[in-house]
Amino acid sequence: MKTKLTLLLSFVLITFSGCAQSQKTENVFLITLDGLRWQELFGGADSTLIGDKTYVKNTEELKRLFWKDGQEERRETLMPFFWSTIAEQGQLYGNRWENSKVNCTNQMWFSYPGYNEILSGFADDAVIKSNDKIPNPNTTVLEYINQQDGFQGKVAAFGSWDVFPYIVNEERSGVPVNAGFEKSADEPLSDKEVFLNKLQDEIPSPWGGVRLDAFTHHYMMEYVKKHSPRLVYIAYGETDDFAHDGAYDHYLKSARQTDEFIKEIWDYIQSTPQYKDKTTLLITTDHGRGTVPKESWKGHGTSVKDADQIWIAALGPDTKALGTGIKGQYYQNQLAATVAEALGIAYKQPKAGKALPKAVK
Ligand SMILES: [Zn+2]
Repeated sequence: MKTKLTLLLSFVLITFSGCAQSQKTENVFLITLDGLRWQELFGGADSTLIGDKTYVKNTEELKRLFWKDGQEERRETLMPFFWSTIAEQGQLYGNRWENSKVNCTNQMWFSYPGYNEILSGFADDAVIKSNDKIPNPNTTVLEYINQQDGFQGKVAAFGSWDVFPYIVNEERSGVPVNAGFEKSADEPLSDKEVFLNKLQDEIPSPWGGVRLDAFTHHYMMEYVKKHSPRLVYIAYGETDDFAHDGAYDHYLKSARQTDEFIKEIWDYIQSTPQYKDKTTLLITTDHGRGTVPKESWKGHGTSVKDADQIWIAALGPDTKALGTGIKGQYYQNQLAATVAEALGIAYKQPKAGKALPKAVK
């Protein structure tokens, strides 16, 4: 009798753990860093730019902060969370020096077309061909997930650029978007939200339509703590704007700070029962930038060679620890389906690229 019970019990346990193994992710944080080159992610600070006074105010300071002779040490110095936690426990796609490639399929190679491709899962070059504030006619994976059982009201987006309410089509999708210089109106406001609202008025942004990323990050963190959303999109913007400004020092410092922001998100996830061991991070960029000629690092768009070269990172309970060892060709249009697949939902959009085969299973 006892033996039978033990057998039954172990059968139930094995079956149960078998199920649990198939899908652990219940929440996804999708994160983008605008126009951060794969060359810096995989190679660290660029030797041709770090000492160039055209692009760097204090070259000695910047070298002290970011220069190491070895490429691996350089990238670890620039993005320590990526090169400790993600590289060891997750996956990094797009190291073209090791034959891992990720490209945009859109032929625009700038922001709105890139974000549309990431979020909807397909390029729409006939309609999305400028950064104008037009409501996105395409359904994004955020909108799609927001319509699924268990996810209504559990999807939210935060961006530094004031075009995101249009890219996500906030009005139609019902997905709340806090972007640009928008304040938190999420009453009752937390003490931090009151302070952020005040500070955002007091600190001038260097740019017209883009706020500094610290505001986006902390508004997002406060929202997450209050509402425990299941799908969060966070769009950091500084790296692109500092690059357009030709400020390689600020570009590197911003990349380093965004790495720290992502670590803060992951630390919060792994210390919060609602999220711990059941949350996946997917991280990418909307476009690349140039390398040749040298000054083309500032720009992108189809006139800039190779500005369609991007990268993707994944980390979470369903992501095998493959590090950078994933060779092959992947595309920006695979992210939307990957987000849905991580949540155990089929992304029924025939035009969308297929989920990355190894990212979340
Ligand atoms: Zn740009």
